[in-house]
Amino acid sequence: MSSESRSAPGVGHAGPLLSARCTGCGKVSEKRTTEIVGERSRGSFQHVCHSCKCVTWWNVLRVLQEGESSGGVQ
Ligand SMILES: [Zn+2]
Repeated sequence: MSSESRSAPGVGHAGPLLSARCTGCGKVSEKRTTEIVGERSRGSFQHVCHSCKCVTWWNVLRVLQEGESSGGVQ
């Protein structure tokens, strides 16, 4: 059961688990998002940064865990 809430960026309970770098402060952290712009493995997304204390853009470094919605068979 998943709620389709798309109201705000930074709601990160679904999607693939990513290692990403904040473009604001350069911090590397693990985030979840379903709204990656560009390729999942090297795209960007908006997420809250606790160092910047606001929503910033993050660049994907690598995919740590695939999301449920992918259904990917390699
Ligand atoms: Zn930051």
